[in-house]
Amino acid sequence: MPSPEPNSASSAYSAVTPPRIGHGFDLHRLEDGNALVVCGLELDHHRGCVAHSDGDVVYHAVTDAVLGALGREDIGQLFPDNDPAWQDADSAVFVREAAQRMADAGYTLGNLDVTVILQRPKLGPYKDAMKRNLAGLLGCEVSRVNLKAKTHEGVDALGENRAIACHTVVLLVPMQ
Ligand code: MG
Repeated sequence: MPSPEPNSASSAYSAVTPPRIGHGFDLHRLEDGNALVVCGLELDHHRGCVAHSDGDVVYHAVTDAVLGALGREDIGQLFPDNDPAWQDADSAVFVREAAQRMADAGYTLGNLDVTVILQRPKLGPYKDAMKRNLAGLLGCEVSRVNLKAKTHEGVDALGENRAIACHTVVLLVPMQ
């Protein structure tokens, strides 16, 4: 009987730097009179996020997705919400740090898919600018970034306009 080559596939695999996938999630409460900052834009709305930083759920979820793909500390470990340095911070600084760590690890962004969940306001008019913001921070073409918005059908805190949430999935690929 010919001997199998059990290690051929795994050897070939180990010679290749694999892509890495990451997931990020964030949620913030909304209260009257606060600013609503989503993906780097301040939206016209009477309620906004309760947060230590600017409460940008998209930037927070994207940061965690990239850090998660790299298998590194999460956003709360890198930027503790009891550190005065991050009070009212522009959350773009968190995405930039994650992007720098991605580059330092030898990866670039393959693609990013973002889902924002909020009852109001509608994000349609802002989506293109939001995608451009993310692409700029992550150093990639806009075509690699997707962003969609969903309501929560009036259900629970998200549906009652008492919270905003974001899910994101990111694929990192080795730099050529
Ligand atoms: Mg957050």
